[in-house]
Amino acid sequence: MRQSKLFTKTRKDAPKDEVSKNAQLLIRGGYIHKEMAGVYSYLPLGLRVLAKIEQIIREEMNAIGGQETKMATLHPSENWKKTGGWDGVDVLFKLQSRTEKEYALGQSEEEIVTPIAQEYAGSYKDLPLSIYQIGQKYRDELRAKSGIMRGREFGMKDMYSFHVNQADFDRNYEIVKAAYLKIFSRCGLVAKVTEASGGAFSEKISYEFMVLTEAGEDDILYCPECTHCANVEISRTKEGGACPKCGKGKLAKARAAEVGNVFDLGQKYPKAFGFTYKDKEGKEQYPIVGCYGIGTTRLMGTIVEVHSDEKGVVWPKEVAPFEAHLISLAGNSIEVAAEAERMYELLQEQGIEVLYDERDARAGEKFADADLLGIPVRLVVSEKTVTQAGVEFSERVSGAASMVPENELIARLKK
Ligand SMILES: [Zn+2]
Repeated sequence: MRQSKLFTKTRKDAPKDEVSKNAQLLIRGGYIHKEMAGVYSYLPLGLRVLAKIEQIIREEMNAIGGQETKMATLHPSENWKKTGGWDGVDVLFKLQSRTEKEYALGQSEEEIVTPIAQEYAGSYKDLPLSIYQIGQKYRDELRAKSGIMRGREFGMKDMYSFHVNQADFDRNYEIVKAAYLKIFSRCGLVAKVTEASGGAFSEKISYEFMVLTEAGEDDILYCPECTHCANVEISRTKEGGACPKCGKGKLAKARAAEVGNVFDLGQKYPKAFGFTYKDKEGKEQYPIVGCYGIGTTRLMGTIVEVHSDEKGVVWPKEVAPFEAHLISLAGNSIEVAAEAERMYELLQEQGIEVLYDERDARAGEKFADADLLGIPVRLVVSEKTVTQAGVEFSERVSGAASMVPENELIARLKK
């Protein structure tokens, strides 16, 4: 894509009321546009990142048998009244139509997915069943000051699984856990799995996937020697105490952001809707339900918090809006401009996603914008390119630059 055609522009300052680093950098880069506290629009560059995050999640959910849907976000209030959520969920957005009919805006989808599963899964032969979607969610947050990490409108992948018994849910949980860790790793994050209380959803224990960052809203205690990790609120062992799992490590406290969660919902929702299946003996049973969330926009915000420096974002490769940022320093040289155009065509022919900065601007301005946007690889075409038959190649993460001959360039980019 030609940067001169991009309708968004970078800006020097973020809005004064924006306190979070993720939103400051994303607004300055033209990735997102703030509508009000906790509500953002995703502009072309931001949408490219979000689509990549969603695609990673989609691939990993499909790989474990999840079936994608797009469920309604405008919900009939009757379903929420059946489950107790209408009065019990304080963050639920409630709407009234001009005919005084009441609706809810989806903040979670149990009230919709349970009747759907009920219609198709009448026998043990139809289970287990995993249904997911990637879409918008709404929460009536009192405070929304964490940028895209806590929105009133936000993106989420939510999956719901239905099982014949607890053992089958437990088996599935391990499979989803492995898929989740793979998703976060592909997004350039290291996530820890913690036990937490189920909150509004469930009386049972839930699992949270936490990424260590000062921008998080939770305090966790983790063991440096093994995988043990627990939310401070429910940990029986205090900071500095011996790890209850391995006994070797001393628990350390850290700030973390929740990027995913799993709730064992038991039979609550099937009971609310009278959803039973016939078991092998022909007896009616309530299925066990699991709920698995990943906040897609929150994940994007967390990536920015973890992967950024004073100059801007440093996107991990798999979620970057483009693979390479081609910068032409042609000035008044027709020769260099032609060389940059040729390079742009070559990269496109080779299937490299490239943002091409052919704007009539100073080198310093182009480099500052490239640092702010944070595309992993920067390729500079200048007088040197013409005389040395190579492109200046640098990685955003290290800043180290070197001349790479054209015949090695594509292999370097595809590595
Ligand atoms: Zn340990």
